[in-house]
Amino acid sequence: MQVLPPALEALINEFAKLPGIGKKTATRLSLNIMRRPPSEARGLAQVLMGLHSSIRLCSQCYTFSESDPCVICGDIRRDAALVCVVEQSADLLAIEKTASFRGRYHVLHGALAPMEGVGVEELKVRELVRRIRAGGIREVILATSSTVPGEVTASYLLDILQKESVMVSRLACGIPMGMDIKYADKFTLTKAIEGRQTAQ
Ligand SMILES: [Zn+2]
Repeated sequence: MQVLPPALEALINEFAKLPGIGKKTATRLSLNIMRRPPSEARGLAQVLMGLHSSIRLCSQCYTFSESDPCVICGDIRRDAALVCVVEQSADLLAIEKTASFRGRYHVLHGALAPMEGVGVEELKVRELVRRIRAGGIREVILATSSTVPGEVTASYLLDILQKESVMVSRLACGIPMGMDIKYADKFTLTKAIEGRQTAQ
């Protein structure tokens, strides 16, 4: 027996596809939207529909941005010679929240996980090498997560970047093993950036 109206069930299924949202939360969110005025649901739909048309990738650091270059790459007060390599835009946001990093970024859009079909080609690695070869970068900080894919990605990058004329450093300890950068607290993350060590 179909208890929920199909339209509501469809919305629940869409919410449940998002990370961290189970069927229970998805149902709660959907029912909440249902109870609100129709204008709010229309507003939400409009925001969702505009998402991909208004947001693109910055052509320099590959983070999600409405402008190209993004606000960080376009900020001349930031050190363009210092580039922090992160897995996701969410990691960039976590580091930005610490307000302790004044360089720029490079977003890989994932971490190496060959078993799950994520190889070098799926990440913005070629773009990173191209950026370094274009000149003007003094140091690259590898700020991938302390997870297995994050560590594999960092060692791979270290390997290929040692052939380039750039200093490579790695975030200092303090980020617990298995931890995603974006979940690290501000203090730990600030210490990890300040205490970064030359990678070898
Ligand atoms: Zn950018």
